[in-house]
Amino acid sequence: MPADAPAFLNVAIVGTGPTGLYVLDHLLRCDRPLSVTLFEAGLLAGVGSPYSPESAAVTMLANIASIEIPPLAEPYLDWLQRQPEAVLRLYGVDPATLHDRQFLPRLLLGAWFRDALESMLAAAPDRGHRVALREATRVTDVSMADPDIRVTFQDARGEDSQLFTHVILATGHSWPEDPDDGRLFVSPWSGLIDTPIPPGRVGVIGTSLSAIDAAMAVACQHGRFDDDTQSFQLEPGAETLQVTLMSRQGLLPEADFWCPLPYRPLQRFTEAALDRALQAGTDGLLDRLWQLMVAEFALVDPAWTESTGVAHLSVEGFAETYFAQRLTTDPFAWAKANLAETLQNARSRRVVEWRYAILRIHEPMERMVAHLTDTDRTRFDALKRVSIDNYAAVPPQSIRRLLALHRAGCLKVLSLGNDYRMDKVGDVTRVVTETGSTTEFDVLIDARGQQALQAEDLPFPSLRAALENGDVAVDHYFALKNLGEGRIFLPAAPYLLSRLPFVQGITASADMAATVVAGILGPDGPA
Ligand SMILES: Cc1cc2nc3c(=O)[nH]c(=O)nc-3n(C[C@H](O)[C@H](O)[C@H](O)COP(=O)(O)OP(=O)(O)OC[C@H]3O[C@@H](n4cnc5c(N)ncnc54)[C@H](O)[C@@H]3O)c2cc1C
Repeated sequence: MPADAPAFLNVAIVGTGPTGLYVLDHLLRCDRPLSVTLFEAGLLAGVGSPYSPESAAVTMLANIASIEIPPLAEPYLDWLQRQPEAVLRLYGVDPATLHDRQFLPRLLLGAWFRDALESMLAAAPDRGHRVALREATRVTDVSMADPDIRVTFQDARGEDSQLFTHVILATGHSWPEDPDDGRLFVSPWSGLIDTPIPPGRVGVIGTSLSAIDAAMAVACQHGRFDDDTQSFQLEPGAETLQVTLMSRQGLLPEADFWCPLPYRPLQRFTEAALDRALQAGTDGLLDRLWQLMVAEFALVDPAWTESTGVAHLSVEGFAETYFAQRLTTDPFAWAKANLAETLQNARSRRVVEWRYAILRIHEPMERMVAHLTDTDRTRFDALKRVSIDNYAAVPPQSIRRLLALHRAGCLKVLSLGNDYRMDKVGDVTRVVTETGSTTEFDVLIDARGQQALQAEDLPFPSLRAALENGDVAVDHYFALKNLGEGRIFLPAAPYLLSRLPFVQGITASADMAATVVAGILGPDGPA
């Protein structure tokens, strides 16, 4: 425990998505009795926003498999194997085929998270802890009430407040409200799932995992996928359905590739090498990091390093080379070829070493981003696009379904270019691309994913007033720097994205939770 920690810990966890659950898991390992209160704005705690029925349908797959998901109460695969066959079949899962690298519906993962919460609640008293769960309770403010922290909340009975020694704001995703005209959706998860979309011209801004969600949400209202024949059958009368995914470059994500897990250690892009690069100063840091990347590539994949001439490229040049061939190929033709190659590699356990290196490098690289100069931070955007393309690869099944939708004549990809226009003209949205082509949409869905948020976006007025506008400053433990004496934590991805660009994902939730709990209980952890 930190020397100045209060004698009795009374902790509030605001938000019971994956981050809140991993925080609870770490806290419950503490030998000293703790009091913990979980606040959840939603009706059902412990599901997490991407995994709940409000924002996911059965066709939407998680892009993380059991082998990578840090266990809660028990490993995900063990839980899956205990589920009745009828339940798994509801999610389109054949119990005979379960394995630890399988990509399954996000709803199923949400059910595991919920069960894990219930197991933790049941086990807590035996470990000497008192845990209270407040569902359908939205925290509306957090303020200092020295020496404590006051949490104000709203539930069915009205407003109330409670005092705590520590507050963890694990509030996760934040989407803007839709205008409610049924024609514009500011995200695929703020009402689209439950809104009937007529079979017309549907434009989706984005081509990544979120855009695939949007396409699936609309397509499943007008037809069904047959995974055996890898086809999509439209219902009669829905022939006018035309979904268009749009992005500046018009690239589809690639299929998740097979690689050894847990990760093999990096040999050149090591923590010691990063420390040395940092000690040499922030000027030129990005170029030094890039040289370490090149050294890693040269070691693990000399043939690819030689053939791409990567050693002679700048960071920006590498990003250009990485996407060049894809940019000149039809996105569906690329997706088909990439899927075939990925599946073949998975069958033969073949590792594409350069891809695997980029995947492993993005995590230690993220820790260096905060040290980059403003100029290097801008230059880093090129490398960030490569890293995101690599780690945000999607389940092969999602690519199969995109291809099936395209074959059925219901899906197109539009490359907007950098200089495009999007205007509302009467009831339609008119999009004019950089090359001058014009397309009109009856419905528009913004699927660009979570945007970075700042202090002024915090939904807690007292915190907003006490913090300076702009990036929210947090310390190594994700504790607010300017308020709360290190006892108000903000492990909420939207507020961290500008400094930790890859912080989204379940493993990031688990890592943040461990760090926050180390900030409460001391770096030696639960004791
Ligand atoms: C569509 C989508 C799909 C994704 N798929 C994957 C995937 O397959 N694999 C992966 O690793 N990652 C995925 N992610 C990344 C995702 O960010 C994390 O997996 C995870 O959801 C983050 O957990 P969290 O607890 O921080 O946030 P959330 O899951 O957003 O949970 C936050 C919780 O806090 C509650 N809350 C918010 N404000 C308040 C308040 N004021 N008072 C009380 N409660 C509050 C919310 O109701 C919610 O339950 C996906 C993200 C999206 C958007």
